[in-house]
Amino acid sequence: MNHAERVALSEPVGDEVRKTTCYMCACRCGINVHIKDGKIRYIEGNRDHPVNKGVLCAKGSAGIMQHYAPARLRAPLKRVGPRGSGKFEEISWDEALGIATNWLDGVRQDDPKKLAFFTGRDQSQSLTGFWAQQFGTPNYAAHGGFCSVNMAAAGIMTIGGAFWEFGAPDWDRTKLFVLFGVAEDHDSNPIKMGIAKLKKNGARFVSVNPVRTGYSAVADNWIGIRPGTDGLLILAIVHELLKARRIDVDYLVRYSNATWLVIDAPGTAEHGLFARDGEGRPLIFESVTEQVVAIGAKGARAALSGRVQLADGRFAVPSFQLLAEKYLDPKYAPEAVAMETGIAADAIRGLAAEIARVAFDEAITIEQPWTDVHGQTHEGFVGRPVSFHAMRGLSAHSNGFQTARALHMLQVLIGAVDCPGGFRFEPPYPKPVSAHPTPHGRAEHFGSNKPLSGPHLGFPRGPEDLLVDAEGRPARIDKAFSWDSPFSVHGLMHMVIANAHAGDPYPVDVLFLYMANMAWNSSMNTAGVIRMLEDKDPATGEYKIPKIIYSDAYASEMVAYADLVLPDTTYLERHDCISLLDRPISEPDAVQDAIRWPVIEPDRNVRGFQSVLIDLGARLRLPGFADNHGKPLYKDYADYIVRHERRPGIGPLAGFRGLKGDRIGRGATNPEQLQRYIENGSFFSAHIPLEAQFFKHANQAYQDFAVRMGFFDTPQPVTFQLYQEALQKFRLSAEGVREPVAPETHRQRILDVFDPLPDWYRPFGEAMVDSREFPYHAITQRPAAMYHSWGSMNAWLRQIHTANALYVPGAICEQLELVDGDWVWLISHHSRIKVPVARMEAVNSSTVWTWNAIGKREGAWGLDRNVPEAQKSFLMNHLIHELLPPREGGLRWSNSDPITGQAAWYDLRVRIEKADKGVVSEPHFPGIAEPDGERPSPKELRYGQEWAQ
Ligand code: SF4
Repeated sequence: MNHAERVALSEPVGDEVRKTTCYMCACRCGINVHIKDGKIRYIEGNRDHPVNKGVLCAKGSAGIMQHYAPARLRAPLKRVGPRGSGKFEEISWDEALGIATNWLDGVRQDDPKKLAFFTGRDQSQSLTGFWAQQFGTPNYAAHGGFCSVNMAAAGIMTIGGAFWEFGAPDWDRTKLFVLFGVAEDHDSNPIKMGIAKLKKNGARFVSVNPVRTGYSAVADNWIGIRPGTDGLLILAIVHELLKARRIDVDYLVRYSNATWLVIDAPGTAEHGLFARDGEGRPLIFESVTEQVVAIGAKGARAALSGRVQLADGRFAVPSFQLLAEKYLDPKYAPEAVAMETGIAADAIRGLAAEIARVAFDEAITIEQPWTDVHGQTHEGFVGRPVSFHAMRGLSAHSNGFQTARALHMLQVLIGAVDCPGGFRFEPPYPKPVSAHPTPHGRAEHFGSNKPLSGPHLGFPRGPEDLLVDAEGRPARIDKAFSWDSPFSVHGLMHMVIANAHAGDPYPVDVLFLYMANMAWNSSMNTAGVIRMLEDKDPATGEYKIPKIIYSDAYASEMVAYADLVLPDTTYLERHDCISLLDRPISEPDAVQDAIRWPVIEPDRNVRGFQSVLIDLGARLRLPGFADNHGKPLYKDYADYIVRHERRPGIGPLAGFRGLKGDRIGRGATNPEQLQRYIENGSFFSAHIPLEAQFFKHANQAYQDFAVRMGFFDTPQPVTFQLYQEALQKFRLSAEGVREPVAPETHRQRILDVFDPLPDWYRPFGEAMVDSREFPYHAITQRPAAMYHSWGSMNAWLRQIHTANALYVPGAICEQLELVDGDWVWLISHHSRIKVPVARMEAVNSSTVWTWNAIGKREGAWGLDRNVPEAQKSFLMNHLIHELLPPREGGLRWSNSDPITGQAAWYDLRVRIEKADKGVVSEPHFPGIAEPDGERPSPKELRYGQEWAQ
């Protein structure tokens, strides 16, 4: 085969090729956009781009239909009909911004917390967060709470980084790759390219997932686990490794807190905390001199076991001893967990043995001298070539935080974090929790007309950092960082509308949302949320959530519930930056960021949301957006990207800084910076020196590099926190022995789940319903060809997934006498939906599932009213309540992880009843009007036809 011929560049199909960054999913691949006669004719992958190296997926190439979608909003809109009717009138930007400024300024002068500002899967959180901070409201977060905060929180708290945007498998060197709960829409091109490498290199790929589609379909081994039991499987693997003594002791001693002494003084305020010296340094037991010394003592050989007496007479044990005692318990033996996980004991034992065999018997070494942060030199980098990756399938459970922690613990136990062949950090990670802020939002952190005194989202070090008042009541509308979910480091967007509607903990005046389809597929209890958005106070006749501002590029279901719509551009019409201050696109070997720029001018009366936000900031005279005289500091987002400095010399973009554009990381602002990015293909990449590429958490050369780049001002090495002291502080509060004492209502829950060592408990959504009444799990995932709700209105992508069905395991079909095309009622403790079924064998035997967000509401997204997406297709969201069933006393917890607040989408339990044949899925909501009048018919938009004429 002639490879040169196969990879020949495509012929130019336009007058000009403009290089920018894809936004059809969150991978941020480089794309070449071919323009002809002022229109986009073709999109291909950029072969020079470090993320995708020319690879383009179906979504990326269909960006052209996203850009020309009939669903695009065309002008600012003011609601003229009742909420939900979809009736609007077009207004000018002057009027729209005047209304928004008036509403927002009123709130800011009065009580800034009456603004709730939440964004969806936007890629500009460093701007939106900064704006909200300058506005002064405590109520800000992005979509992480209903996505995968469990992964981020568990990763950062345990190893200083997490999967995907903060790290990646060492695709080139790994020999065994284990993927937990990852659907094929996630990390799309990078994972596909990575799996291709594994296949080429002969590496083994194991996928743990209840459903075998996409990535799982090409795995060497598929483990069809029962949803919500991944943590138990991982702890059983840990049990086997400990039993066989197949762990990397040197690695544990060197890089983790396994040797730190834990105080054993039950009933006291320090029980279970680390013993420390007068300077706060954790203590270890030095096994040669048999003395207790502080960590870092020169030449100390720290013990991993043994009970020792401290100078003050109390006793302590190394945290590893607690770890080993816990997981060697027979309750974690493969036989003991087989029934619960649905995985045979032999298969669990086999996977554990294979992990150990590859990690230790196939270890690799890169001969590259390096020096660690303690000054010790090493001949090379020793690699344990076993890597893992996980995402929402593992984390979107009420036990997801502890499960994700368990997975990171497993990585550390075999020495496979940031080593050759293992999981590798991507700059600016790793970052210890101590380098992150604590959360801000308590009353003393803000006041009318004042910025918040620090960032909203951070990591509490203990109960003292919670955002609660003196009585323990939440300070935030989503109750993030309260006793309900103390480590909700991404907020709880899925609770905002319910809480605002209930005025619990207080009412808000303005709900400001960006790119989040909360009236449809991004909310639990969709029908309930719609009612809340439409609900009026009978006394005043006003909506209970008085004012809703919404910005989106498309006529999503949420648009119909806004009072004021600020139409966004498509991703090809605006500036954006994919910043190291936000969610980076770095690779393990390189620091990287990127931009988008208007490769085509908008042909509608729309503006990029980020520029609108900056404009609003200036109109509101927010510090950081207007000077003392009220003069705007920035013309638009492009100007902000170039000239904003978060710290002196540190701005949104790391590349081409300095007066001559020759500085990286730190440097003066460069007016030519965006142009230099465009000339470079819209990205910047700087390689990490070879001696700094591994063991970044403890590598002096990497730490120095990170300081030079401006990630930190001083080195920030990470010690892996297998034992979490912060969680133990909450348990002490719940026991009533440590201030602040936890409220009575929360104590048992904290004692049950805040184990400082990774733990497994049955997901609440499962534990609180009768499993005989609701015998099956119900889950969703997105297909490879679509991302969030945008894809399922895209003219090309709709042809791949036009309608969804409920996929039912063969055995259940037999039992209920179901065949393809039959209709069933799918019933949860909360609600019921009527849907078509399809039989499937490659799925866990107690699990039904469907593609998420294919179902649309009639009238939304510029689609014809009779399309399959609006008639036959459906959402599982209707079955999921945002609250768990009532417990004793009638109180209801939110349907979330109790530690992080992560929405527990996949805890859902259902039963199936055969239904009459249907044509339209139920519930079927009344259609909504198109927000800005008649749309061009699809024929007029048929790609190529009208331009060819
Ligand atoms: S993987 Fe995502 S970012 Fe990359 S081309 Fe596909 S849609 Fe675009």
